This record gives sequence, C-alpha cells and structure tokens, in this order.
Amino acid sequence: MLLYNIMRQDEFVEILEILEKEYPKWQAPAARFAKEYKYPRTSYTILISALLSSRTKDEITYAAAHRLFEIASTPQEMVNVSHETIQKAIYPVGFYKQKADYILKLSKIVLQKYDGKVPDNLQELMRLPGVGIKVAKIVLEKAFGKPCIAVDAHIARLCKLWGIAKDAKECDKKLQELVPDEKKIGCNQILVSFGQAICRVKKPLCHICPIKEKLQSFGVECGSSKKI
Ligand code: SF4
Repeated sequence: MLLYNIMRQDEFVEILEILEKEYPKWQAPAARFAKEYKYPRTSYTILISALLSSRTKDEITYAAAHRLFEIASTPQEMVNVSHETIQKAIYPVGFYKQKADYILKLSKIVLQKYDGKVPDNLQELMRLPGVGIKVAKIVLEKAFGKPCIAVDAHIARLCKLWGIAKDAKECDKKLQELVPDEKKIGCNQILVSFGQAICRVKKPLCHICPIKEKLQSFGVECGSSKKI
C-alpha cells in the first residue's frame, strides 16, 4: 500500500532541481512544440492554447493553435470568426465542437466584461466557459508569471507514484505546499517533460532516470522493482 505525504519539501526541491538541469536534453513534446510553433504569446493566445490542450496531445494542440491564430489571435478578431471556421481550424483536438463554442463565448466575455484583457486571477478565469483549474493555472503561470502549478495527467501520475497524493485534486493541493513559490514557475513544464520522456506511462526509462537513487534514498519505492 502506498503511503502519502512521503516526501518533505526539501526532498521534493532536490528532485525538482535535478530534473530542472536535465529536462532540456530530453526534447519532450511539451518543450519541443512550444519552440517549434511560432505564434504570438499573449495572455489571450495562452488561454486559448491551454483550452485546446485538454484531452489532446501536444503535437495536435500546437498545430491547431497555430492554424487558429493565423485566422484570429485576439478576442476582437475571434468574435468575427464563424463557429464553423473555428471548428475546422482546431480539428482534430478533443471535443473540438464544444471548444469552438467555448472560444467564441469566452472571447465575447473577455471583450465585453474585461475590456479585451484576460483576467489575472483564478476565480474570474474559472468563470469563463470551458476554463477549469488546470487551464486557469496555466494562464496564471505562463501569462502572468504567478507562482502556481497546473496539474495534468502526467503530474498527477508522478505524485501518485512518489507517494505524494492519491489523485489530481490532492496533488494540486500538495504541490502548493511542497513547492516553494520561487520554484513554482516552470515546475509544470519540468514535470510534464519528465513524464513524457523518462517516466513514461508505458515502459518508463528507469535505467536512465536521473532521480532514481535520490527517490530511493527518500524511501520512495519506484523503478524496475515496482510497477506504475
Ligand atoms: S525510477 Fe523509473 S518509475 Fe521511478 S521515477 Fe524514475 S523512471 Fe519513474
């Protein structure tokens, strides 16, 4: 049985610091596509890309965002685009019809209620159509530089594996406590890259894992002796 709360803050920071040095080498999709697709990085495009990314692979998300932002990259431009055109541009992201709907509705709200500016706080972001806690935190971190960590499926899985939390909700709360504010920016990308490139769902590359020994010294059982 897994024990939760297994790692202390200083131990988790040690793990993060090792991964921070290593992750640029891995060329994980999370980092690679962010560099490859050039489109304006504004609070609005970050919000729309984050919305497109849910339940969708990175390569599909970035390509769809690129096509969409060639048509419209501001809420002013987006409200003049038809639902059908948005759908075509973002296909085949998951739930593309519903997401096209959200994009139009939230663009209108951002224009009418916020004078064209994406709100910079969790509560107001989460009131926008289609925006949950993960998307809101991505926007806060990447658009506004606020210290927070968006928890996706990779991060929730790692937290479970390392005995930190049993599900995504608890992981969200635990990471807030375990990661000091100055380390929160970039934490999502580091952990997602690790989950995509090394600690993969199928066949984790434990033989080249840079934190295997460290985890074991903290009492975390993982690696070849343990199934994820
Ligand atoms: S040792 Fe293996 S299972 Fe443990 S974190 Fe590294 S890659 Fe994942």
